[in-house]
Amino acid sequence: MNFHKTKKIVILGSTGSIGESALKVLRSAGNGYKVVGLTTESNIHVLARQVETFKPRCVGIVNPTSCDAFTQQYKQRFSAWGLRIYRGPESLQQVATEGNADLILSGVVGAAGLPALLASLRKGLTVALANKESLIMAGPLVMKTAKKYGARVLPVDSEHSAMFQCLQGQNGNAVEKIILTASGGPFYRYSGNLSKVSVQKALAHPNWKMGKKITIDSATLMNKGLEKIEAHLLFGVPLDKIQIVIHRQSIIHSAVEFVDGSILAQLSVPDMCLPIQYALTYPERRPAPIQKLNLTEVGRLDFEEPDFKRFPCLSLALQAARSGGTMPAVLSASNECAVYAFLRERICFTDIAKVVDKVMRKHSTISNPDLNQILEADSWSRRTAQEIIDTIGR
Ligand code: MG
Repeated sequence: MNFHKTKKIVILGSTGSIGESALKVLRSAGNGYKVVGLTTESNIHVLARQVETFKPRCVGIVNPTSCDAFTQQYKQRFSAWGLRIYRGPESLQQVATEGNADLILSGVVGAAGLPALLASLRKGLTVALANKESLIMAGPLVMKTAKKYGARVLPVDSEHSAMFQCLQGQNGNAVEKIILTASGGPFYRYSGNLSKVSVQKALAHPNWKMGKKITIDSATLMNKGLEKIEAHLLFGVPLDKIQIVIHRQSIIHSAVEFVDGSILAQLSVPDMCLPIQYALTYPERRPAPIQKLNLTEVGRLDFEEPDFKRFPCLSLALQAARSGGTMPAVLSASNECAVYAFLRERICFTDIAKVVDKVMRKHSTISNPDLNQILEADSWSRRTAQEIIDTIGR
């Protein structure tokens, strides 16, 4: 094996929170990594700055109008090394599969990342997956595709990276259970009326700096429900052997209990650069651009049971996981709509769970769905969620 081969990396969603952290990691990693492709939804000026620094072969801009603006403003400047520019939603797939990459990091938000994920896996590529919605909506299909083409899905989510690190060198049937930790988000200790909380308050996560969608999911605890499904899919551990534990400090990012009663946990300061880097450099470890954890400064670590009553999204996610089939796609799509409606102040915080619940109740699950049935369930869920949002919307 040649250890000095340069790893060629594509970052889908490079201007988002995950993408920016990944580029920070790659800047500090130095030799051995080359960025060959970047994509953005519409953030063309940040993209231009990234292109300037990393000189990829190609970029993708999902929003066609933004793409035209980018071409007009920057094409000449970047023509020196023949930068290829792809336009529209298909550009995610094009950049992923035409950039001759070794690893695709997907930091796209929502269901929009699914076609690029599947296309990458069909090419046998390794995908470092931060885009959990794609996995949730089409989990069995994604994992089957990976297996069929000898591709690999590496976790980027901090909890799943922790589990993955604890599982290194372990035999699968030595696992007794997975302990999935949750910070509880900004409202875990909040005693006021959750239906009255502002968007700004919901976006103020106590421990993690992340994109808006996932920050709201953390506040409703939907994120933890989605993560339980994600752990089940990635590691093949049954749902009833994945325990959610509230751990306010976000120092233990998750743990694995083995049959002998031993528990291995992964600890660090909460900084996404670490799980991102582990996925990029795996199976190697390298110095990371993060603060080191000082245990005596942390002092203590606390754990408690999750409150399913106050955070109904958690139960809804578990219900969808148990139903399987098209239900997780319906859960995830209706949640996406409800979260964006909350961010636009069209519905209140507690309406998010109500919308998802109503949509799920209207859905008849199709088991073992193919891709078309999943995509149909996804768009049906969005339409239905929108109708419900319109009736309760302000
Ligand atoms: Mg997470």
